[in-house]
Amino acid sequence: MKIGVVGGSIAGCSAAILLLKEGYDVTVFERSNTSLVGRGGGIGTPSELIKQIKQDGLIPDDFSFFQINRMPFIGKNEDYEPYGKIAWEMPMNFHVFQWNELWRKLRNNLPNKYFKGGIKITNSVLLENAKVELTTNKGKKEQFDLVVFADGYNSLGRSLLFPEKKLKYRGYVLWRGLLPESEILEKSPLKDEILRLSYKNQPGHNVLYFIPNKKGSTTTGSRIFNWAAYIAVQEKDLNEIMTDVNGRVRNGTLPPGKLTIKIENKLKHFLSKKIPEHYADIVNKTTKSYIQVIYTLDLDSYYKNNMCLIGDAGIVVQPFTGSGVFKGYNNIKDLIVSLKENNSLKEALKAWNKKQLITGKKLLALGEQMEKAFIWEQPDFANTSKEDIINWWKASVTFPDNFNYGGSSS
Ligand SMILES: Cc1cc2nc3c(=O)[nH]c(=O)nc-3n(C[C@H](O)[C@H](O)[C@H](O)COP(=O)(O)OP(=O)(O)OC[C@H]3O[C@@H](n4cnc5c(N)ncnc54)[C@H](O)[C@@H]3O)c2cc1C
Repeated sequence: MKIGVVGGSIAGCSAAILLLKEGYDVTVFERSNTSLVGRGGGIGTPSELIKQIKQDGLIPDDFSFFQINRMPFIGKNEDYEPYGKIAWEMPMNFHVFQWNELWRKLRNNLPNKYFKGGIKITNSVLLENAKVELTTNKGKKEQFDLVVFADGYNSLGRSLLFPEKKLKYRGYVLWRGLLPESEILEKSPLKDEILRLSYKNQPGHNVLYFIPNKKGSTTTGSRIFNWAAYIAVQEKDLNEIMTDVNGRVRNGTLPPGKLTIKIENKLKHFLSKKIPEHYADIVNKTTKSYIQVIYTLDLDSYYKNNMCLIGDAGIVVQPFTGSGVFKGYNNIKDLIVSLKENNSLKEALKAWNKKQLITGKKLLALGEQMEKAFIWEQPDFANTSKEDIINWWKASVTFPDNFNYGGSSS
């Protein structure tokens, strides 16, 4: 079977490697003609998932990460400065790493002859012979038995198959940055943990953890602070915050180096008042911070004819669930199982679709629960007892059966 994969990021590369292993004839089209490593930043997934990806042979044993064992909930309180008051440390079992470490390792595992970089797909149509024809920005047309769209949250595939489905803005953005550990003079207490720092009487929170540096080093002194602050922004004010240094309004992402000093300083000022001094210092010393607008999207189907959606081209879930890689990876693993178990492509896609919808909707429900807990109704961790925080967490968040944070409280 000839399969076209649109998008060569995490979901697209994983899909291509796994499909090639099964003997399919695969071509990946990636619109970017440069390496994707610049997308950078820290990312976290349950440890079990990375173990699975390693076991499947997609990434090598030297994959660089930090093991996370707990998530402390911390609030700013003058009596506990500079590190804030820890309300509770939730046990968890997560891996955190550089986004580009995962992408680079996947990409290295995919021979160049299957990966067409710098080619943007502009259209996809079902022909009378039941093949799908992809058109490239160079005007070339190519036919496939199956097309897998792995083209991200702004997916062309999704807009062609289900034009009525639109991204829903969640009312907040993620302002984030990276700071080399060496730039902070005092020794940081940050260890094998992902901090959640509440803002008193304000929606949102700040996440902070170490990731290895770009070369994969995990040695103390060479690590990178990865911080990410969820900030509520009304839709009417989005254009202002997303206007870059050249006066251009960015859609979805305002990349590093493009945020105006005025907005960056305004955000730094806000956070300095809200989070403990040590962590505010990390944020304030960061340059080239950047913004990602948070959207979700629900779907009623993952496929139409011989075209299907995987990863963020499918259901889009809030990022603090840490489920993005899990979702994309399982979409493709399930597709391979379904192709084996069914006699026709039509039957395989139908059975596969059912499972993807169930998982996607459960993760979206998890995202909505976490959004309520972490963004809109987050307790002030500095003034809540351990018992109350444990009860709050248990009452607020229920994990789906196949996805959790791996700690005893999940
Ligand atoms: C703010 C934020 C934080 C996140 N944090 C986490 C986290 O902690 N843990 C986690 O698991 N996940 C996280 N995610 C999600 C995670 O990054 C993605 O779910 C995961 O990388 C899978 O992405 P993808 O490959 O489906 O799409 P993408 O990475 O968006 O890739 C889509 C690719 O398709 C290409 N493309 C698009 N259109 C075309 C076209 N027409 N022709 C050819 N190529 C095209 C693009 O250039 C791109 O390379 C986060 C996401 C965001 C936005």
